[in-house]
Amino acid sequence: MAERNTAWAPDSWKTKPIKQDVVYDDANELDTVLTRVAHMPPLVSSPEIDRLRRQLRDVAEGRAFLLQGGDCAESFDYCNPHAIEDKLKVLLQMSLVLVWGMRLPVVRIARMAGQYAKPRSSPLEKTSDGRTVMSYRGDNVNSIDPENRRPDPQRLLSAYFHSAATVNYVRLLLAAGFADLHKPEAWDLGYVRNKDIRREYQNIVNRLTDSLKFMDVIGATDTSLPSLNTVDLYMSHEALLLDYEQALTRPVLKPTAASGKRSSYYEPATPPREPLAPELCDWYNLSTHFIWIGDRTRQLNGAHVEYFRGVKNPVGVKVGPTMEPEELARVLDILDPLLEPGRVTLITRYGAGKIDQFLPAHIAAVQKTEHRPVWCCDPCHGNTTTAPSGHKTRSFDAIMNEITANMQIHQKLGSRLSGIHLELTGEHVTECTGGSQELSHSDLPSNYQTFCDPRLNYEQSLDIAFKIAKDFEA
Ligand code: PEP
Ligand code: MN
Repeated sequence: MAERNTAWAPDSWKTKPIKQDVVYDDANELDTVLTRVAHMPPLVSSPEIDRLRRQLRDVAEGRAFLLQGGDCAESFDYCNPHAIEDKLKVLLQMSLVLVWGMRLPVVRIARMAGQYAKPRSSPLEKTSDGRTVMSYRGDNVNSIDPENRRPDPQRLLSAYFHSAATVNYVRLLLAAGFADLHKPEAWDLGYVRNKDIRREYQNIVNRLTDSLKFMDVIGATDTSLPSLNTVDLYMSHEALLLDYEQALTRPVLKPTAASGKRSSYYEPATPPREPLAPELCDWYNLSTHFIWIGDRTRQLNGAHVEYFRGVKNPVGVKVGPTMEPEELARVLDILDPLLEPGRVTLITRYGAGKIDQFLPAHIAAVQKTEHRPVWCCDPCHGNTTTAPSGHKTRSFDAIMNEITANMQIHQKLGSRLSGIHLELTGEHVTECTGGSQELSHSDLPSNYQTFCDPRLNYEQSLDIAFKIAKDFEA
């Protein structure tokens, strides 16, 4: 681990080998854009990030559950009121069902307001007419249109503004009481085909809304169960484009530096109002609350792990079948040297058919260390298949099976599954099969919208929450 003893800086990742890098043809233009981003105000604050750190500690120690979800890739077009409202609604409703079923507070993190960059398995792809073009790398790099795949630095600036508009609208909705889902009318269960299942779901919603009303009447909601009425919703994205992440990484005075308190505002990094001595500062990525490293960029000696180890934000690491147990312990040593419970969230994604083979050794490797990460199940990425029509899809049953197997394996080994990470949308798309709507392969073309991975729709997402809640109640 000698290589990790060197000092960290927001740009020390540049000394390490990088995967999934984007090569721009105009370095000056890139520099100009990054300088502008580095002058922009932050999108979130360090006290918000600190609050999430405390809440993830609760998750790691079994006092709360984590729900993380959103699109595989956000498009700039998704920055519109309806798409944002729909996403918020499904995440909040799912979390209420989970709170109800588990009797635990739920920490909500959206894949939103910055989930633009995508890692790709190949840098090039074939168009429908047989030409080879650069792969689409996400709206902050190039266009989905095959005629327009040149990486354009201006898109980074555009990503900043789209993130800002999205965060702003989410804050506005929450402040305006959008989180008030006490009204049964907010729950439309008409989609559930099977009458018995619909009755069961309706019964949960009735009990849930009744108890919310009761707590309102006795005035209990303000204090005793804050997660039921005051809503925290955090933002997250895969921090893939490190130039951009660096430009929004800002120093914040350490709590002990001045009067025992952390400054309640960030200090602009470029240019500093007054120079901050590095030893007095912590570094926060103020583009979002939570960032994660993808399964393709988590090399121990790579640029991404180097960047992640130095920021105060809580961080996620995707863990797939190619992660060696020993490597998992090492990655935790690097990212969590202070042994803070919940500092790292391990987001496991094996596939329903592979989880039995890989998860037990990963749990055992972590149990041998003193790290206490959040164990979170991503049941989506290992369960992607291609339908006969050529659509990339996922089956609801495979997703549910991976979640159930994940819970059982943890339980058997004296560990705990403490969160789920889903690719979902609040809209009525047809990208995954199954669920209470009983979507089949032949339904996929009717409203298939994603230009990246297939997402659970509103109905399938609620189904997942109801099923988990029922499992816990049972
Ligand atoms: C993703 O979360 O969209 C993703 C690319 O996941 P992974 O890194 O696990 O493949
Ligand atoms: Mn994805």
